[in-house]
Amino acid sequence: MSLKREIEALARGMGADLVGVAPVERFANAPLRMSPQGLMPGARSVVVAAIHHPDAAVELGGEPRQQVVGPYAVQYWMNSRLDDISFRVARLIESHGHRALPIASSNIWRYHPYKDLNVSFAPDLVHRYAAVAAGLAEIGWNNLALTPEFGPRARFVSIVTDAALEPTPMYDGPPLCDRCMACVRHCPMDTFRKETKGLASVEIGGQRYEFPQTNKWRCAWAENFDLSLSIPAPEKVTEEVILENLERYGQDGGAEGNCLKFCMVPERRVSDPQYCKAPRRKKTPSAETPAELLGRLNRIFEDGLLDVLAVGRAADFAEDGPVHPRLHLPDAVSVVSVGIRVPRGAGGHPDLDAQVRRRLVYAAMDMAHELDIQGYSAICLTRIHDTLVAERLGVFDGEVRFATVLTSAELPSTRRCDHAKVAAPTAAEIRDLCRAAGADLVGMFDMDRFAAFREAAKGLDLASRPAEEVEDKGLIYGPFVPAVTHREVAMRGPEDWLAGARSVVVLGMHLPDAALDTAKTTPAETVGPYVFACHESVQLLQDVGYQLIRRLNRSGHAGVPVADLTALASTVKSPRGMLPDMRSNRFAALLAGLATIGRNGSPLTPEFGVRQRFLAVVTDLPLPSDPLLPGDLFCPKCDGRCVSSCPTAALRDGGMVLAIEGTEFHVPSVDAFACDWAKRLALSGKEGPQYVGMETDAPVPEDRTASAVAAAVAHTTWGVQKRYLTIGEECIRVCPAKGQGGRASQPE
Ligand code: SF4
Ligand code: SF4
Ligand code: SF4
Repeated sequence: MSLKREIEALARGMGADLVGVAPVERFANAPLRMSPQGLMPGARSVVVAAIHHPDAAVELGGEPRQQVVGPYAVQYWMNSRLDDISFRVARLIESHGHRALPIASSNIWRYHPYKDLNVSFAPDLVHRYAAVAAGLAEIGWNNLALTPEFGPRARFVSIVTDAALEPTPMYDGPPLCDRCMACVRHCPMDTFRKETKGLASVEIGGQRYEFPQTNKWRCAWAENFDLSLSIPAPEKVTEEVILENLERYGQDGGAEGNCLKFCMVPERRVSDPQYCKAPRRKKTPSAETPAELLGRLNRIFEDGLLDVLAVGRAADFAEDGPVHPRLHLPDAVSVVSVGIRVPRGAGGHPDLDAQVRRRLVYAAMDMAHELDIQGYSAICLTRIHDTLVAERLGVFDGEVRFATVLTSAELPSTRRCDHAKVAAPTAAEIRDLCRAAGADLVGMFDMDRFAAFREAAKGLDLASRPAEEVEDKGLIYGPFVPAVTHREVAMRGPEDWLAGARSVVVLGMHLPDAALDTAKTTPAETVGPYVFACHESVQLLQDVGYQLIRRLNRSGHAGVPVADLTALASTVKSPRGMLPDMRSNRFAALLAGLATIGRNGSPLTPEFGVRQRFLAVVTDLPLPSDPLLPGDLFCPKCDGRCVSSCPTAALRDGGMVLAIEGTEFHVPSVDAFACDWAKRLALSGKEGPQYVGMETDAPVPEDRTASAVAAAVAHTTWGVQKRYLTIGEECIRVCPAKGQGGRASQPE
């Protein structure tokens, strides 16, 4: 199979409806800093994948007012799935020996012009324009990408690569925007008429598109900044006006954009005012039988690791009962309930809770999407009472979390509960399962190994987090509102995460090399793809961990995912919230025989050097310890550039020695206060803020107290860019340890 077909098969298998390839020549008119070549010199192609919103989510969302998004919240989960596709497609391309840079689906951008780039709200790459260049879409008057199949109801993601992939021809059908002006009439901020600067004109692959040059601050009032649409819209909207209104009124909620909701391409536009205010999308139900449609849901049930699937008829929900499917989907015929059993040992564990939610919503989204593509109405994430639906369909169980899908498709009634018990997995089976699920590295250790580590660590100061931390209690935009928390920094162990713990499985995932190789240094001068790769690898590791935990649960064992086993590491600021920092789980990785610790304090592996993230899964299943690595990697032969590159001089010469089972490992001392200053508090420009145009650059104070931090953050002008601050740790970026790549075999 050609690489292009492999990419397409992977993306479609993960839920993409459209996949196209744009040669970089079609980006000739893009500003260099926002072009594939500016992001990654030598780029030759851009892969673009799209997922269609279930129509009903667009048509029925945003009611009774735009800022009650309701089922349109599916867009956030579509973005998550697109992120998964971006990362995994990049890794697939890399496995063929090419470079590939995955771009985030959304929510990482510079709000203000940057150096010679005179663009506001500038992402690393505009996916809408990439979609046009990949032959998937045209640009409408609303400046959205309109596809012939779905109109504006598709979200996109792009991957930049130096592989020369066969281009997809440009779209050459009838115009997809007929200037109906519904987008203009329905915009609550009147963005297409007020504060415009004539027409913008873009030329992509020989096709020219014109649309109003809008004031993006105006457009973003509710859509991005969550300001209430009940506040009278100001004549002129600027960052200052946004911040003033945020300070005065706070945030309301994100809005479903009417420029998307009320737009549909002429060939597919249908008016049905009894059903919804928006135009509907014309589609024809497939010829599949109800049993065949149910077969599709069964496959999602199996792939989605669900425990419960039940289908009933909407007409069987009594009028005088508490649940009325047709209030949520007017043409509902069938009601689908899906459920996941709360994993054993979860005990309110936040990462496990989040993972159950992610799996459940993904499954409901996939089912709604599948039925929609088959030509039916289908919706999830409505306000229907999921547990009452499950009870009505006869599958309620207090240990199961539920989600509901409503559809106009007729489906056979069914009930399926998967309670099969299986034997406990062996160590070899765990490795196979985790690798098949996407882990690049798998290692394990038992409690004796951890006890030896605890003993070796006596008297050493292994913490790389300060005891006093300053957190931001403000809004995601505007001033940093400091609050000081005091926490005892003490080593935690497996038993602290799971009573009766017997062993720990450590999972590693490699970051696409291009994400690090391009950070800060290519003409784009961005850290966006790197922070995206860090966030996404954390997500995907949680997915792998969840698959392992389910397997453990089915054999009667418990497991919990742990971001940092010893709780001695800190966090790093990212546009997606705080992430575990690169030192997280370094001791777990060392004890599992996967890593040593570099002078930058981060785990280094023979396979990938510094370029991976780790997750630990603590379990009560006894497992054998893997051999430790024979001693320090990379650093003894390196010039120590991590030390000299650190903007806050947080890495010191010298350090400590951990002697475990007769092997010595060096652990550097890290000045946790100085390190957090740059990576957790974003107070050092060189670490990242300067690449989004921030002038923040405060020296580390002599007075190393939380009060000094509070004073520094309070005196910094953050503006709205605070939400999208990107940090690229210098000691990681400059580290030459890249490993040998590939999947080195692990001891069995
Ligand atoms: S609503 Fe009409 S004018 Fe606006 S982008 Fe869509 S098709 Fe074009
Ligand atoms: S730059 Fe990397 S390899 Fe070199 S001393 Fe630092 S951690 Fe070790
Ligand atoms: S480069 Fe950044 S992450 Fe590394 S030690 Fe210095 S401040 Fe910390």
